[in-house]
Amino acid sequence: MEVKNFYRFNVTYEKSIFNELKDDYFGISISAHLVLFYEKFFSTFLRDLKKPFFIDLVSYVFARDLANIKKIDKDGNLSFKKSYQKLIDYCDGEIKNILTNREFIPKDFIDNNGSLVSEFTEKLISFQKDFFSLKSVKAFDKYDKILGKTRGELKPLFLTTPYFYFETLNDPWYKISLSIAKSALSMKDEFDLYAVLCFSEELLLRKDDILKMIEDYSGFDGYIFWISDFDEKEISPVYLTFLINFVEKLAEKGKPIYNLYGEYFSLILSKIGLSGYSRGLGFSENKFVDACVTGGGQPKRFYSALLHYSISETAITQLYSIFPNLLCNCNICQLIRNDLGISKKPSLKEIEDFFMHFDFIFDSKKHMVNLHAIEIKDVTDSSLDDIITELSNRITFYDEYDLDLYGIRRNHLVNWLNCLEEYNSR
Ligand SMILES: [Zn+2]
Repeated sequence: MEVKNFYRFNVTYEKSIFNELKDDYFGISISAHLVLFYEKFFSTFLRDLKKPFFIDLVSYVFARDLANIKKIDKDGNLSFKKSYQKLIDYCDGEIKNILTNREFIPKDFIDNNGSLVSEFTEKLISFQKDFFSLKSVKAFDKYDKILGKTRGELKPLFLTTPYFYFETLNDPWYKISLSIAKSALSMKDEFDLYAVLCFSEELLLRKDDILKMIEDYSGFDGYIFWISDFDEKEISPVYLTFLINFVEKLAEKGKPIYNLYGEYFSLILSKIGLSGYSRGLGFSENKFVDACVTGGGQPKRFYSALLHYSISETAITQLYSIFPNLLCNCNICQLIRNDLGISKKPSLKEIEDFFMHFDFIFDSKKHMVNLHAIEIKDVTDSSLDDIITELSNRITFYDEYDLDLYGIRRNHLVNWLNCLEEYNSR
């Protein structure tokens, strides 16, 4: 089965990476507030790129602390970041009235016969259906006509439901998210509609609640889940086992399932029923619902196919000093190696040189996309048994070296292996 990996679009300078490496990924996921903020940019970019995309409505932010999406403006006042203000302006009406004063509370959606449920759903579903055919964007079509260009119709691969985060099924946001998702069903027209389930890792452990949630969410064309702050590498293995159970159970519906923030373990889950996942270009592999949106620089990271995650600059130079002949030779790194004339078995000096010339912003992202495409192919071509054997061999190999002493974590590989073996022996 083809694994569909989506990269999340974060900043416009990533455009060149998406273009250059378009054969190395399946599609793009874009947050609604960015679509609005960079309206014209996306209209041309997506038309030219011709890759599948979907919009994450990020509606959960409106029921969390609004300070998460605000910043201090030049006059010293706390105001919404411009992109989120655009989304609020787009929603307008009662939604804007409330959000101008405070975050949503459950009562907003329960009072007035649930009129806010329909207003909110209607706005955000039609946004996805119509956005790229709005008047401002039509101007491009006209321009294209003059130039004799046809860029084709621009539509998301599927629509997604507006959603809020819920801790448990008793959390009022569960019922509200469900009723929003159900009411979206009547508005989807010819589109596929995927329900978005955004919940706590604790909910995963409640077997009956998980079964009830899966049952409640019947009738959708697909599913996207986001378990807040779920780090596949850090989380205790019991959660990974329950994640497997959840995916396996949800897969019984026979519909596509995506993890909104997934990485290598999610890739392996494609053997158990996951259709794909979305991730950032090298960085935002998992996300906490209460994360503050800050600008700030990105840490220097390097994706390691040996460990299947992005590790720090220090850790990667240490890793390659132990295994110099494993220095990356993906398409991107090969160019740098050739430029510097680095030998097949590089010396420590050559490895230092390599990282002196490695650009931890552009090169790092491209290297990650390129390597991850190879990982996807490998996993696609392997059986779960092959993957287990490979993980096990790798761990045995690393056991000869005290990677921990170099600040290199490899425990996640052991955790992954244990729960996959447990799954396989059922
Ligand atoms: Zn590389």
